[in-house]
Amino acid sequence: MALPPLVEPSALLSAQEIERYARHVLIPDVGMEGQRRLKNARVLVVGAGGLGSPALMYLAAAGVGTIGVVDDDVVELSNLQRQVVHGAGDVGRLKSESAAQRLASVNPLVRVVRHDVRIDSTNVLQIIAGYDLVLDGTDNFPTRYLLNDACVLLGKPDVWGSIYRFDGQTSIWWARHGPCYRCVFPEPPPPGLVPSCAEGGVLGVLCAAIGSIQAAEAVKLILGIGDPLVGRLMVHDALSQSWDVLSVGKNPDCAVCGDSPTVTELADYQDLFAVTPPLGTGLPGGSVSRSAGAAVTQISALELAGLLSSDGGSQGVLLVDVRGSEERAIASIPGAQAIHLDEFRSGAALLRIPSDQPVVIFCRAGVRSEEASRILTQAGHPDARSLQGGVLAWVRDVDPAQPSY
Ligand SMILES: [Zn+2]
Repeated sequence: MALPPLVEPSALLSAQEIERYARHVLIPDVGMEGQRRLKNARVLVVGAGGLGSPALMYLAAAGVGTIGVVDDDVVELSNLQRQVVHGAGDVGRLKSESAAQRLASVNPLVRVVRHDVRIDSTNVLQIIAGYDLVLDGTDNFPTRYLLNDACVLLGKPDVWGSIYRFDGQTSIWWARHGPCYRCVFPEPPPPGLVPSCAEGGVLGVLCAAIGSIQAAEAVKLILGIGDPLVGRLMVHDALSQSWDVLSVGKNPDCAVCGDSPTVTELADYQDLFAVTPPLGTGLPGGSVSRSAGAAVTQISALELAGLLSSDGGSQGVLLVDVRGSEERAIASIPGAQAIHLDEFRSGAALLRIPSDQPVVIFCRAGVRSEEASRILTQAGHPDARSLQGGVLAWVRDVDPAQPSY
């Protein structure tokens, strides 16, 4: 599907610009006019992480005139395996600041606009409105759905990518010309069912493959050349080195872009999709978090540490780690018994956990342990608690000598 150029050409290029972009200007499909369209283009990259890193650097090198960077996180040591826009000296800095500095060194002719905020329903429309297209480099479902819905409401293309371990996917969601994200993925998966890269890992170089495809699609849209990935879903497996393209169509019943949309204004989807309560909200003795219809009792890392050290032992508490062996090898809590979340889902865990013993369950950040606690509670166990914030909270508050991940 050929589409007209998204952006009008800028004024004439300077001699310095023509020299810098000569290898573009030489391509007949780009030419001087195409390079002027790039100069006039405004691209918003949401997330200066694995996908955002290559996308940002190539968009800057390509001469996209205005590049917005949305990120409110700081660079962590465990980011550097794939987030190549940041360097070792950037650990602890805001990602948007680190990325902006790097882009300025790649191409000082490009204007970089920092948005040091977490994108939410109150700011997303205002931020996106100033750009021609959105490049989604986020790693979570609530933001992904929010960006999609905002792009549908504003009529903007959403150049999307997703990665996990060795698998990548990318497409352009653009309701004006094809399906949106909700047309193809109407419902988010239940919390905890799809592990994040933080839980399951990701091959660092996969980010280069998917993020640079997103950048290429953004450039094609700006120039109005080729066959953009509108209505097509590219699926990549780095292990078999396969690239498949599936046709995806518009859903007339889509909640946001269908014939009778039910999503006509934006809401924050954290409440709908995620269940992890924010750290630090636990009350002494355990707070209660309600999600997916069942109550789960929480325990903080400090409370757990007190429980394990008092009375010269564990007070008979069974400590259960629902993570996989790779995660357990990075950081753990002494004395924990490994019972994988899958065993809770299959019911096998119920045979391994005495019904008269108090249980504290933990995972990386508290989502999977909440699901396991809920399963146990619903099976009738009288005292199952989930470690709030998971082993990350334990490392932060109790045992900072262990690595985070
Ligand atoms: Zn749709």
